[in-house]
This record gives sequence, C-alpha cells and structure tokens, in this order.
Amino acid sequence: MNNATFAQRDLSVLWHPCTQMKDHESLPLISIKKGDGVFLEDMEGNRYIDAISSWWVNIFGHCNPTINNAIKQQLDTLEHVMLGGFTHEAAVVLSEKLLAVAPKGLSKCFYSDNGSSAVEIALKMSFQSWRNQGNHQKTKFVSLENSYHGETLGALSVSNVALYKETFAPLLLDIISAPSPDCYHREQGESWRNYSIRQFEPMETLLAQRHHEISAVIIEPLVQCAGNMRMYHPIYLTLLRAACDQYNVHLIADEVAVGFGRTGTLFGCEQADISPDFLCVAKGLTGGYLPLAATLTTEKIYQSFYDDYEKLTGFFHSHSYTGNALGCRAGIATLDIFQQQNILQKNKRLAQVMQQAVANFTEHPHIIDVRQTGMIVAIEFVKNKHTKEPFAWQQRRGLKVYEYALSKGVLLRPIGNVVYFIPPYIITEAQINTIAKVALEGIDRAVQN
Ligand code: PMP
Repeated sequence: MNNATFAQRDLSVLWHPCTQMKDHESLPLISIKKGDGVFLEDMEGNRYIDAISSWWVNIFGHCNPTINNAIKQQLDTLEHVMLGGFTHEAAVVLSEKLLAVAPKGLSKCFYSDNGSSAVEIALKMSFQSWRNQGNHQKTKFVSLENSYHGETLGALSVSNVALYKETFAPLLLDIISAPSPDCYHREQGESWRNYSIRQFEPMETLLAQRHHEISAVIIEPLVQCAGNMRMYHPIYLTLLRAACDQYNVHLIADEVAVGFGRTGTLFGCEQADISPDFLCVAKGLTGGYLPLAATLTTEKIYQSFYDDYEKLTGFFHSHSYTGNALGCRAGIATLDIFQQQNILQKNKRLAQVMQQAVANFTEHPHIIDVRQTGMIVAIEFVKNKHTKEPFAWQQRRGLKVYEYALSKGVLLRPIGNVVYFIPPYIITEAQINTIAKVALEGIDRAVQN
C-alpha cells in the first residue's frame, strides 16, 4: 500500500490530535509502517530521523531491543491487573527504582496513564492534603505565564498557552498567574541568572500576600516546552522552593516533558538542588513505548491522607490502567538503560555536538535566538531581528520548515516559529549535523517573501 492510499483510509475513520483536519486536504498525512532506532519509515520506504522523539517521548530509539524484550517477557507473565487492592512485581520494582533516582524526599509513587493526569493528581492531592489537615482556605493554584501542563480541564487551567486555553476559558478554574522567567525577554546584555532572579520578584510578592489561599505553585523546571521552548536559569527554582517553604505552599514540579535527561540531568530540579512536594513524570518514563505517568510525593503528604476510612481522608482517585504492568516493565527497562549505559554522561558529548551544530545560526538575518538546555535546542526566527517583530502566526512559517524537513528525511515539528531538536539519545553526531543543516535550510526557505 502506498502512503496516499493509506492516508485516505485513515482520514475516513480517524480524527487526529491537535489538528485542524481540513489541513489534510493539502498537507499529506505521513503513514508510518515501522520504527527503527532514530528512524521512522513510511509505507513507501522513505525514512525520517525523528528529531523530536515523537512528541518528546522516545528516548532510546524506536523498537529498542532491550525495551522490546522486557515488554515481551512481561506480556507472557502478566499484562495488567487493577491496582486497587492488588499489586504486582513491575509496579513495585519501578517505584523502588524511580524513588531511588528522584530528587530526595520523595517517597511514594501514584500512577496514571498520561502527563495531564499526573498533573491533575498533583493538583487534587495538594488541595486535599490541606483540607485533610483542616485548612479549607487553600483553594488556589499559581502557575507561570507561558506554561503548559496538559489538556484535561484542571491541567489546562494551570496552563497558559492561548491557542489551547482560550476556547475553553469559561470552563476553567480560576488560577493565579505569575510572570515567567523566560529569558527570551531579558534585556540586551542581561544574564539568564539575573533576569530569572528579577522575574522572581512578583512571585515572591504574590506568595507573601496571598499564601493563605494558595495550595500550590506548579512549574515546568528549566524549560517551558510547549510554550515555544522558552528557558530560564535554575536560580528561579531555588528561590521558588525557598519561598514555598517560607509561605507554606506546595511546589509541583511538572517534569513530564523535561524529565529523564532532557535538560542534561535526570530531572531538571537537580540543577537547582531542590526537591518538590510533587513530581509529575510521563513521556520518557517508558522510553516512549506505553502510556504511563506517575505523580511522586513526600511522606508528609502521604501521611496527611493516612487515617481511618470513616474520616474520608483517603485519595479516592483511580484510572482503569493505573500501574499497568506492561508500562511499568518498559519503565524499569528504561531506568536500567540509563544506569547500565551511562547515558547522562554520554549525553554531555551529544549536547556539545548539538551546540556546535547550531553555533553560527544567529548569523542568519532572521534567526533571533538559539538556546539550549542539555539535550534541548531551540531556534527562534522572526520577521525583524532588530525590533523582535514576529511573523504573523497566520502565515504558518513553521509549517514550511516541517514540510521542507520531511522532504529531506527529517521530522521537525516547529512550535510556531521555533524550530527545536529533542532527539532520542541514540542519535549519532552525523545525524545531529544533518538535522541542523536541514533546519537551517528549512528556515531559510520559510522566511522568504
Ligand atoms: N506537562 C507538560 C510539561 C507537557 O509538556 C505535557 C505534554 N506535552 C503534559 C504535561 C501533558 O502530558 P500528556 O500529553 O501525556 O497528557
């Protein structure tokens, strides 16, 4: 079957995520037949380097033999059992391993099956924890401008990207929004550190004034990924942790996107030497294989729920697939690869190669910013470099980069006018250079007339 025929079959029955389906009248769907390491292969045998790890989930390549084998073994033993009243080896081992590598102080894992749910769980746990302690005033959450935490109504409420949020605004929770430390907006010559410290001031004031009604602050450590891959200095997290302690407010670290080595350390929080009260993980947790997420929390939070049933302080929240055995087994294999193959150390070299590959990109007349945090590189292009004026979003210039890159065998999926690389960690130096070359050519074409 060829790509076009298969795409037609798809379009007669499927509705795709985050897509205006009418686009596919002119924009071909890419019909993938198989995955092989960093490559995806379509029905006609064309291969694409997956430079964005299929929405940032895939960390050790497609059809990774180690993860494949782990899942196959689990499949022949136990595929799934409900986690209410039951348990199984994969869930216990994964929890032990995850807690051993997570920021210190986290001692319990609560599973779900996607990042949005992990966030919902953190929000609900935070809120209920205060209630269980007799505090009924803490009903508000603080999130940052330009943040993204998921699509379900609670997670969308604490998100701040207009494209996803505006339509649903009447349905959403009333959230307190604080300015972002996003260093794209720093003054010329100002360091990331100084700007991040400066941007913390309104957060500090907010917490000082309204802490009695605030349950938690939720934040994406170091990189606001869906918010155009905007980055900031770890000092912001250090200051935020101290302020949350001072004002008795929970800190939720949403590491759904940045967890598992994306920022250079296993978790972004490590770079600020902080531990959150809740850590949300998903995406890379299973190496990009299966939908599994976890919300990790502290003994203190856990104990605030622990009482006689009649007190009704338990956390009465469940999902059918909570702690799915296949997902947990993929998670174990993923953490084992990190450890056994010294991945974080090797990634330092890859991050260097990524940096070198884009080092002279800012010489381009439309590229205003090239930023990097660990294994995430983002390249932002604008209409006018001197005034920072962006191209009108309606022109969809990023889409032109996407189409060009596909024609050259690279999967790049810009967010607006930000082209980024978040590759699987098995990528080679030559492949990184290919991606960079194609990205620059794509941008060059996209900014014409
Ligand atoms: N939090 C962050 C920081 C994310 O980037 C995402 C997804 N891109 C989510 C939460 C939601 O995760 P999911 O798509 O698995 O629901």
